Amino acid sequence: TEGVADSDPEVYASIQDELHRQRDEIELIASENIVSKAVMEAQGTVLTNKYAEGYPGRRYYGGCQHVDVTENLAIERAQELFGCAFANVQPNSGSQANQGVFQALLEPGCTIMGMNLASGGHLTHGAAPNQSGKWFEAVQYGVSPRDNRIDYDQVEALARVHVPKLIIAGGSAIPRVIDFEHMRAIADEIGAYLMVDMAHFAGLVAAGEHPSPFPHAHVVTTTTHKTLRGPRGGMILTNDESIAKKVNSAIFPGIQGGPLMHVIAAKAVAFGEALRPDFKKYIRQVRLNADSLADQLIKGGLDIVTGGTDTHLMLVDLRSKGVTGDRVEKALSRACITTNKNGIPFDPEKPTITSGVRLGTSAGTTRGFGEQEFRDIADWIVEIVDGLATYGEDANDTIESSVREKVSKLCARYPIY
Ligand code: PLP
Repeated sequence: TEGVADSDPEVYASIQDELHRQRDEIELIASENIVSKAVMEAQGTVLTNKYAEGYPGRRYYGGCQHVDVTENLAIERAQELFGCAFANVQPNSGSQANQGVFQALLEPGCTIMGMNLASGGHLTHGAAPNQSGKWFEAVQYGVSPRDNRIDYDQVEALARVHVPKLIIAGGSAIPRVIDFEHMRAIADEIGAYLMVDMAHFAGLVAAGEHPSPFPHAHVVTTTTHKTLRGPRGGMILTNDESIAKKVNSAIFPGIQGGPLMHVIAAKAVAFGEALRPDFKKYIRQVRLNADSLADQLIKGGLDIVTGGTDTHLMLVDLRSKGVTGDRVEKALSRACITTNKNGIPFDPEKPTITSGVRLGTSAGTTRGFGEQEFRDIADWIVEIVDGLATYGEDANDTIESSVREKVSKLCARYPIY
């Protein structure tokens, strides 16, 4: 009955500090967003007490009649949102959604093919330190040095040589639309499954602002917390009944136990929000803002990988300024602009240093920032990068503190929570 503020002041203080950080900083991390109060409230409910192993109507525990309603709402809304026949809303994360598909369709030692990390792929797509790279023969494709876009000729050539059982399209730092039809044609030629991991651009697909991976993908995975603006979590979608059955058994009892019913409730709420016209407006603004941010950064003399973006995210190539991603991330952070350093294709720097930063407009747009605000943010980023390049860390204080003041004013104009 005691709230966390009274029962655990230490944890409470850390939560309050994080609230203030989110309020006072400009969030440009492309994988983050700001959920509604309704999503957050659903997540902090009594559903966290409930064990519900199994699926609606087929549980291994009693007392599931109400959480069955919750999970069915999440499933039905996901199906409507993405126009597909089956949804598994139980994966605890995007990584577990991917693991679930692997468990459903592959055996250890099978060959899989995904995009390499350096080109924008995700760890779970066959990277060496990840389980997907250890338990499978992982072949990795990349982007073409010509235009930094997916090298479909390479995908095709590698597919013919290695004959993977599963091809993965999608990633964490791909600014451009992927040609799903082309990927499916390559998969069909060798009899492979095509899995699209739309974790980043799922919200854009839901709003009709990005091509859908359906009908091309056999199976689609996603996170629910990026552009889709739901709670942290994952989901698996398909139109194929036999794949759906395998996926269900793979998630439970294959790799998970009791589903996080409170998170599933929050997913249902977020999908409900995404079905409303307001969400389309929001995503359209995310796209407009991304174009404004990219254009203004280019005007300020920064290079953007592929020259722009089709989505909510972009990669800034810092090499022409002679500064690294690591240094820029830290300098922006001192000015209360939050980003992450990110490798760019063919990056000469180590992954802990990098030559790039990744920027996204989903969180800022949720706050209410429009194109002018993102142009201002671009100007501030350019000031800081140029200052860092000219004066170095020790003498960039004046610039960083003047930007910090402007950031503070902007954040105060667009409060959250
Ligand atoms: N897939 C892609 C493309 C991602 O970008 C991410 C997260 O960054 C994931 C999967 C993993 O999601 P999670 O962090 O929820 O495990």
